[in-house]
Amino acid sequence: MNETSSVYPAVLTIAGFDPSGGAGIQADLLTFASMGAHGCAAVTAVTVQDTANVKGYISLDPNDVAAQARSVLEDIPVQAIKLGMLGSVGVVEAVAVLLNDYPNLPVVLDPVLRAGGGGSLAEDGVLDAILNLLLPRSTLVTPNGIEARLLAPTADSLEACGHELMSLGADYVLITGGHEATPTLDNLLFHDQQLLERFSQERLPGNYHGSGCTLSAAATAALAHGLDVLNAVEEALAFTHQAIRFAYRPGLGQMVPDRL
Ligand code: PLP
Repeated sequence: MNETSSVYPAVLTIAGFDPSGGAGIQADLLTFASMGAHGCAAVTAVTVQDTANVKGYISLDPNDVAAQARSVLEDIPVQAIKLGMLGSVGVVEAVAVLLNDYPNLPVVLDPVLRAGGGGSLAEDGVLDAILNLLLPRSTLVTPNGIEARLLAPTADSLEACGHELMSLGADYVLITGGHEATPTLDNLLFHDQQLLERFSQERLPGNYHGSGCTLSAAATAALAHGLDVLNAVEEALAFTHQAIRFAYRPGLGQMVPDRL
């Protein structure tokens, strides 16, 4: 037998491991499975965290991260890649080199820098490395408002952030509104140097650990199913909203979205 027989499109996440099961690779794999995709995962870092906050992390050697991803890509016909927590500049660089070898693969970039609880998930220099090496190669970048302002510090509004991130080479930029003080949750999708769509959703109360991971993983799975970016984003926002509506609290910290 030398043919694949999967009815599920394959997706690969390159992201961090969260032992509490709320964010990172577990969030991605649960979301992929729930959306009918075969999930593969290359680990960039092992974090030490609970559902309240990140206490630290151990970055893997960039060569070992690239080797995990390459072994999957050489075996399985992956349809889309998600980039989550990368943690170190070396891992960002290794991922950029890897992506050069797969120029046609859609890439969803979740620019993870800090946890919602405030703990750091990236060493100094990761932000600039992401801007220079990964943004120009991304099909879709999904910063929340906090990340968008860190990535585009001179922009004076979220709309201006979106324009700046696009001018740095991202094809589509989705700035999510979960951390803003607006009555509705407004998510802004930019493309072709303009605000393409404003998706307004009901704002659900509370903080949800792993919601950004869920959204970017859902968009990756939707792209792997063949949706265009606009429809993939719409599908991913709907999936995430539903997962948050049924969120549960597995420990003493934040709620986690129900992706099952
Ligand atoms: N841990 C890992 C490995 C992550 O990738 C992320 C977010 O992307 C987090 C923790 C933080 O998740 P949150 O900010 O939703 O709590």
